[in-house]
Amino acid sequence: MERIKLGISTCLLGENVRYDGGHKLDRFLTDTLGQYIEYIPVCPEVECGLPIPRESMHLEGDPESPRLVTSRTKQDMTERMVDWAKKRVVELEREDLCGFIFKSDSPSSGMERVRVYNEKGMPVKKGVGMFARIFMEHYPLLLVEDEGRLHNPKLRENFVERIFTLRRWREVLEKKESRGTLVDFHTRHKLLILSHSPKHYRIMGKLVAEAKDIPLKELYQKYQTTLMEALQVKATPKKNANVLMHMMGFFREQLSSDEKQELLEVIDHYRQEYIPLIVPSTLMNHYVRKYGQPYLKEQIYLNPHPLELQLRNHV
Ligand code: SF4
Repeated sequence: MERIKLGISTCLLGENVRYDGGHKLDRFLTDTLGQYIEYIPVCPEVECGLPIPRESMHLEGDPESPRLVTSRTKQDMTERMVDWAKKRVVELEREDLCGFIFKSDSPSSGMERVRVYNEKGMPVKKGVGMFARIFMEHYPLLLVEDEGRLHNPKLRENFVERIFTLRRWREVLEKKESRGTLVDFHTRHKLLILSHSPKHYRIMGKLVAEAKDIPLKELYQKYQTTLMEALQVKATPKKNANVLMHMMGFFREQLSSDEKQELLEVIDHYRQEYIPLIVPSTLMNHYVRKYGQPYLKEQIYLNPHPLELQLRNHV
């Protein structure tokens, strides 16, 4: 698999570009996730021509359309930043990004809950950084997260799963469009989709079943939109446990009563959140191999992202 391309706030890579000459290196992003990702760094403040170090800035005014202002000397940087950001997002089109990881809380790069100060100098955490807003408006379908939220294991798992799925989908888009290719992708992703949203699983199943009656372009577009919507719905222990039970149904007859008992116990312990998802999914993988289940073997759900990321150890 080609490396996945993501934009990233430059300071998260350890570059000394912050207003105080420092950085915000995030080791998970560089050392762990970085093995699979090609990062395209963007530092809005430096790239729009400001020096290092520089005066710190903040957002002020209406949280829906705030101004970007330096904190001490009150210079208004809004136009400078907006003009640069509008050009930069167009330039980024050639990178074919899958998404962007933003630095949280930054008036330029934060994607949500950034402080916006009112005329009395009181902050409300309702803003979006200037560059982040223009980026998300320009690329509404790309995956975005901030590094602060990625410290939460559930949000991290969800984001990484979506990136890897989007990458596989992009590989489908690189091939000649055909119903067969789309059906094959869907078949391998069925249980992954089910673990996020049974509702989208049904909608997509119907879409694929009616594929031959839908013009190919429309089919691809509908499928992509629904896939991204489905993966935005968070997978939960209850939904994962239901998927695992569904999988168990494929070889219930072949399991010995001991194996059945063990698997049921492990799934139940996971449902109650005593153990992480990696435990039942590893056991399930073992039985899938042992009993040679070709359909389950192909399921991305059992291996959604590289093991080295250790994601299922925490959810
Ligand atoms: S938060 Fe954004 S603007 Fe600030 S240093 Fe990092 S990349 Fe640059």
